[in-house]
Amino acid sequence: TLQGRVALITGSSGGIGLGIARALAARGAGLMLNGRRPAAEMADLCQALEALAAAPVHYLAADVGHPQASQRMTNMALEIFGRIDILVNNAGVQHVAPVGEFPIERWDDIIATNLTAAFLATRAVLPGMTARGWGRIVNIASAHALVGSPFKSAYVAAKHGLLGLTRVVALEAAEAGVTCNAVCPGYVRTPLVERQVAAQARAHGVAEDVVIRDVLLAQQPNRRFAGIEEVAGLVAFLCSEEAAGITGAALAMDGGWTAR
Ligand code: NAD
Repeated sequence: TLQGRVALITGSSGGIGLGIARALAARGAGLMLNGRRPAAEMADLCQALEALAAAPVHYLAADVGHPQASQRMTNMALEIFGRIDILVNNAGVQHVAPVGEFPIERWDDIIATNLTAAFLATRAVLPGMTARGWGRIVNIASAHALVGSPFKSAYVAAKHGLLGLTRVVALEAAEAGVTCNAVCPGYVRTPLVERQVAAQARAHGVAEDVVIRDVLLAQQPNRRFAGIEEVAGLVAFLCSEEAAGITGAALAMDGGWTAR
């Protein structure tokens, strides 16, 4: 159970982040949610999660890649709850293009959202966690934190960087009862992946199910997507007492992709 714990989950207005919010709420954690959707669109969802958690659930629209916006988010969570016990750095964006044509502003945005955002939020919450002697930081990395794929320079660089940050934070916080781990999923069927499938189908003039079979799932020996609930379940486990000894780890959930 995570009763009495408070979790901040970035990028939790949809996709994997929302699945993580559901899993932590089901275990009784209070939640500070974040994303790019306007707050009005999130009101019903917050209410439903509050009922599930029997604990308060709040939402702030903020671009976590920007230092001021990130600070606004962590300050708001600290004002409302008084502390943050669990930080899940989940916000992430993707862009697919050859290095020679990769738009510089897309590079900057991917590094800011997928890497710098995790540093900023960790920097803000880690001192409180170590002072209280308990904390969990889970970084949603990717199989692309462990291996590369063509046309994903910014994403692969950011995710490899996120794994490096994970290891350093784990080492700095280990003695204080705070763990920091990276979850490395293969393909999960979310809006982020649906956009890639649609773009590749257009680019190659083939059907979407062909892209899914011959491009995406060709990487995964188990030939299926990982489920959002599977990723969320692993995150919830990493937040539990039983996971106190796991830190600085990269936990692959990629159907065997990186075992090759
Ligand atoms: P998604 O596009 O479905 O959801 C991304 C979420 O992040 C949304 O809630 C969005 O509002 C939020 N977000 C994006 N940019 C933001 C910003 N600057 N500030 C605040 N919030 C922002 O994507 P997803 O597939 O659920 O991805 C979640 C995480 O999982 C990402 O870090 C992604 O890299 C990682 N991941 C996804 C897959 C996959 O196959 N879908 C695989 C491995 C890792």
